[in-house]
Amino acid sequence: MKYPQVRNYIGGTFATAELPALDVFDPAMGTVISRVPLSGVAELHAAVTAAKRAFPAWSAMPIKQRVQVFFRYKRLLEQHIDELAALISEENGKIVSEARAEVEKAAELCEFACSLPQIATGEVLEVSRGVECRIERFPLGVVAGIAPFNFPNMVPHWSIPNAIALGNCFILKPSELVPLSAGRIAELLTEAGLPAGVFQVVHGGREVVEAICDHPDISAISFVGSTKIAKAVYRRATNNLKRCLALGGAKNHLIVMPDADQEMAASNIVASMSGCAGQRCMAASVMVAVSATDHVIARAAEIARAMVPGKDIGPVISVEAKARIIGYINAAEAQGAKVIVDGRHVTVAGKEHGYFIGPTIIDQVRPEMQIAQEEVFGPVLAIIRADDVDQAIAIENASPYGNAASVYTESGGVARKVMERANAGMVGVNVGVPVPREPFSFGGWNDSRFGVGDITGKGSIEFWTQSKKMTTKWNREAGTNWMS
Ligand code: NAD
Repeated sequence: MKYPQVRNYIGGTFATAELPALDVFDPAMGTVISRVPLSGVAELHAAVTAAKRAFPAWSAMPIKQRVQVFFRYKRLLEQHIDELAALISEENGKIVSEARAEVEKAAELCEFACSLPQIATGEVLEVSRGVECRIERFPLGVVAGIAPFNFPNMVPHWSIPNAIALGNCFILKPSELVPLSAGRIAELLTEAGLPAGVFQVVHGGREVVEAICDHPDISAISFVGSTKIAKAVYRRATNNLKRCLALGGAKNHLIVMPDADQEMAASNIVASMSGCAGQRCMAASVMVAVSATDHVIARAAEIARAMVPGKDIGPVISVEAKARIIGYINAAEAQGAKVIVDGRHVTVAGKEHGYFIGPTIIDQVRPEMQIAQEEVFGPVLAIIRADDVDQAIAIENASPYGNAASVYTESGGVARKVMERANAGMVGVNVGVPVPREPFSFGGWNDSRFGVGDITGKGSIEFWTQSKKMTTKWNREAGTNWMS
């Protein structure tokens, strides 16, 4: 194995414990590169105990002082970007340029955390003569974040900088499919000066996730993953009276109007459906082609066909994921859809055992087909034809998900209509991956998000803190009123 077995990071040290473990694969090669321990209640409890020890001093530190760690940490992310990107690429499979973008986004998330002293200020008002009301934000205590496989570095950073800068002690449960990046995050946070116990990593799968949901001393949980597990985690956490924000899967629709700029629309669509091998919750999954848009489809097919697997597009995460995705394509074809770009049979020289699928575009998909309704999470674009924008919006609205939707058009009126009526939390106009950049918050609707608010940006301040309302009177000469 290239890397020794991954270890939990508890109380400022990497813990060695005899635990059952799973193999970790390099998806591009199909080889085992490490092993990940499957922690249970005891390991989680050790992390919670260390976090509780660290919390009083960390939360008592002024926020301006706390964020100094993230100024230093952001620099470290930038200095180590090559190494961090290589590690992401190795454990997740995405190509290095995509892995670098992930680290750049993680740095941007830290930049936002560094601005929290300017944003997360309290409020104060003299509500009647001599009586002052003020609101201050307080951290929640020990909190946790549970992450998916598709962004081993960035998604943990949706929660880590803000939760910690706002005064909490944070326990990360990475995906067991991509556990390596978390160790480097822990090392770099420590190098940046974060005290022991403020950030910890507990590896594992279902058992430790359930332990997080059940632990009485964990106050809040952010979860990112599939809808099925998001629902289970949200139900279990809130049943235990915890605050929970659980982001789920997606089925993003990209509406293309006949007046769309052909080159921009075609290249954006292919980039959106194939980036990170289609394993992004913001990936285009369905193109709703309105009326005379054959020219855009033809150009998108041309661009997709020219992509070189192994160079322009990485593998999917596992042998099971590859089989599942190919199953969706086969089923759509059997139901009468037309595979116009076929990535099912690709091989990459020197990486014959990697889990590669080339970009795949399927035309003549009907809304009732499985491929039109379920999250495929691979480099597959289903094209559904529509006569007009109202029909296109109706198709989008019928999805139970609601992460993202986009429209390609030159008409402001059509764009505004889609922005207003799309049943999704993040909407783009002439943008294939409408991810809000900081300080704007990230979060979907419907089956793509359970809980209130958004996970990043200003939305996260509400989630990671509780407000205390204080009413004071120091000015006795002001007289009395109904309050005192
Ligand atoms: P997943 O739901 O399988 O796993 C997510 C996390 O849950 C992992 O840490 C995993 O260990 C844990 N887990 C898995 N099974 C569990 C169980 N039975 N009980 C408790 N915990 C369990 O998701 P994934 O395959 O790692 O990630 C891909 C999914 O994540 C896709 O559906 C994608 O759309 C979604 N995603 C959503 C967003 C978003 O912002 N909405 C962002 C990234 C990924």
